[in-house]
Amino acid sequence: MREFDVQILTAAVSKMAYESCIFLPPDVQSHLEAARAREDGITAQAILSDILENAALARSEAIPICQDTGMVIVFLKVGLDVHFMGDPYEAIQEGVRQAYVRNYLRKSIVSDPLRRVNTADNTPAMIYTELAPGDKVELRLAIKGFGSENMSQLTMLRPADGVEGVKQFVLKVVREAGPNPCPPVVVGIGIGGNFDKAAYISKLALMRPLGQSHPDPYYANLERELLNLINESGLGPMGLGGRTTSIGVAIETLPTHIAGLPVAVNINCHATRHAEEVL
Ligand code: SF4
Repeated sequence: MREFDVQILTAAVSKMAYESCIFLPPDVQSHLEAARAREDGITAQAILSDILENAALARSEAIPICQDTGMVIVFLKVGLDVHFMGDPYEAIQEGVRQAYVRNYLRKSIVSDPLRRVNTADNTPAMIYTELAPGDKVELRLAIKGFGSENMSQLTMLRPADGVEGVKQFVLKVVREAGPNPCPPVVVGIGIGGNFDKAAYISKLALMRPLGQSHPDPYYANLERELLNLINESGLGPMGLGGRTTSIGVAIETLPTHIAGLPVAVNINCHATRHAEEVL
């Protein structure tokens, strides 16, 4: 059994949350650069250049990539041989608190969805926990803006709707989102499970590095096909036309009930901010 001091979690979350707000991850950077090289329209090229210049300025000036420094999302995978010395959830919230208060990042969280009082330290993060063999703690963290989160949708298709129904729903969600999630977007898709698990795995899909396909060739092909279909829409960067409406589609699946086909689509924006560490 490994004794795990939860202060390690606080330090890691604080560093990852701060750095994620400032530094665009290399996978997103390289996909945006490739998209700019592919575009032949002046407006689309100019917007992608502006997005990349914005990311470079954020990096050099140590200022946030976007004014929406988001809600912190944490996927925690805990080894069965880990014994936490302290409360890991409170340690994570303390890491978020330190990152946002010490670095003057915008605080975007309200303590109650209807009475809406700002918590003033960007807590709480949304935390999802899984157990795994071993004595490591795997931490995946994302900064999620709500311009894109608000454009996400879930539907309960009929089994007979099949893969065509899934494609039509994904395209509908991206079309209805339009320019609101600051395209080019990243599209996380959860297929299967039940109502809530479909949404969970659609967010998990967004944690996968861009360019990494689903391990099952069937779903890897579906990811490629959906990416092409989304980009054929012509919506383009910031919705002003072009070849690049999306820079990545990731699908996660779960077994489901014979009578159902849940599908969730979680949209992320061009400021897709994610990081991971094994502690
Ligand atoms: S959708 Fe993304 S880029 Fe647009 S305002 Fe929100 S966080 Fe910023």
